Amino acid sequence: TIYALATARGRAGVSVVRVSGPNARDALRLTRPPGGANSSDGAATAAEHGRLRLVEFARGDAARDEPPIDVGFVAVFASPRSFTGEDVVELHAHGSAAVQRALMDALGTLDNFRVAEAGEFSRRAFRNGKMDLTQAEGLADLLDADTEAQRRQAMMLSRNAAQRSMYETWRKELLTCAAYCEAALDFGEEEDIASDVVERKVRERVKALRDTLQKYLDAPARGELIRRGVRVALVGSPNVGKSSMLNALAGRDAAIVSPHAGTTRDVLEVSLELGGYKVIVSDTAGLRETEDDVEKLGIARALERAEDADVVVALADATNDASNIDLKALNLSKKTIVNVWNKSDALSDGQTRELMEIENETAADGYETAVVSCLTGAGLDGFISTLTRIVAQKCTIGDDASDANDSTLAITRSRHRVNLARCVASLDAAVARARASSASASALELEAEELKLAARALGRVTGAYDVEDVLDVVFRDFCVGK
Ligand code: GDP
Ligand code: ZN
Repeated sequence: TIYALATARGRAGVSVVRVSGPNARDALRLTRPPGGANSSDGAATAAEHGRLRLVEFARGDAARDEPPIDVGFVAVFASPRSFTGEDVVELHAHGSAAVQRALMDALGTLDNFRVAEAGEFSRRAFRNGKMDLTQAEGLADLLDADTEAQRRQAMMLSRNAAQRSMYETWRKELLTCAAYCEAALDFGEEEDIASDVVERKVRERVKALRDTLQKYLDAPARGELIRRGVRVALVGSPNVGKSSMLNALAGRDAAIVSPHAGTTRDVLEVSLELGGYKVIVSDTAGLRETEDDVEKLGIARALERAEDADVVVALADATNDASNIDLKALNLSKKTIVNVWNKSDALSDGQTRELMEIENETAADGYETAVVSCLTGAGLDGFISTLTRIVAQKCTIGDDASDANDSTLAITRSRHRVNLARCVASLDAAVARARASSASASALELEAEELKLAARALGRVTGAYDVEDVLDVVFRDFCVGK
């Protein structure tokens, strides 16, 4: 039987300690009716499922006349109707470090009780069939969610068995196909029948499934983008105002703004929420030829960042033509590059007119543009709404209404992607085998084998297969008490 603080450590109105396991009800021995009535441990053994009951918490045998630790509520969730599927008892007490410690210590005195490990409650819930791995991951994401879009996606994943049923449907389909291959083997000499059956029942289905899976892999990684955040890289020559822009976006002094060229040598990151989506903005060292070794390193990193980024903000100094960036050199789609001219406050009227022309040409080339002043704040709102629009486009469902675009079913983790890719590779191998030698016994056997491998890869996503090696990966994201 395990126990842990389910709420955050430290000061709060209320804190909840959760107990789960075969002896969970023993925790009720630490409770007695309020006012210390001398009724025995009857207080809570009669507790109704899922109902909060007002009690006093006390050390050891609560019936004894010892002053209470605290007054609070206790709730009992009888197996299997609990989060873990086991008997669960929750102690709701006041949220102070001293109360939390006293309750935890008291629980520690009970036989067969121990402190839970990180993610252990969820792990037990998975073991007891309360959720599959995709739902467990959804739950972990929900606990981590900072933005509205992250919350929505995580909530859908954790509550919705759609992902599991999708993967399970595919997996069963593959196992059925493998069974057909094996059945065809039993026809032995009658190869005509065998090849006919396999041809009809298996090959087309395998090809169709392969195409479906490939479509999933090819679909824009919206789920992953929402989960980890859209990466925006600020790039530009030294002194164009990258650090100032980061500060303006962050609304705080996250980066050091300095009048000397080449001070931002490393990469600084700030996480923000734009339009409900998580965005990670990085300020990089200036893109410029340099002799300074440290700065050189920074520039290499800036270029790397730009390549990894989902959106690039190419910043230039409006008062300095030499600071314009060659946008074509950035290896990214035009739609994800915003060309921003900073320091509009310092422009002469003539320069302003000239800049308007350049901006129009750049926009006509298909790039997003903005003219701003990080100093005065002019144009920043417009720029931020442009950025928000691009981010939202990347994260939302396109007008293509196919399954691969359904955000409920979007791939949210590389773990899913890797296994899907493995599955497709096995399917390709199966098709190749079939082609190489039509319906010879050994080919059929190998084909069945590949199909089973493919099914196995899918089973890993939901936890139907090879559970042990993925459990640690999935549950290590949880905190203690969940
Ligand atoms: P970085 O090297 O690209 O990160 O540029 P910084 O943000 O460090 O800015 C370089 C210099 O330009 C600093 O002296 C800033 O105060 C100045 N600066 C930044 N934004 C503006 C602006 O909008 N207008 C004016 N006039 N100066 C700016
Ligand atoms: Zn800087």
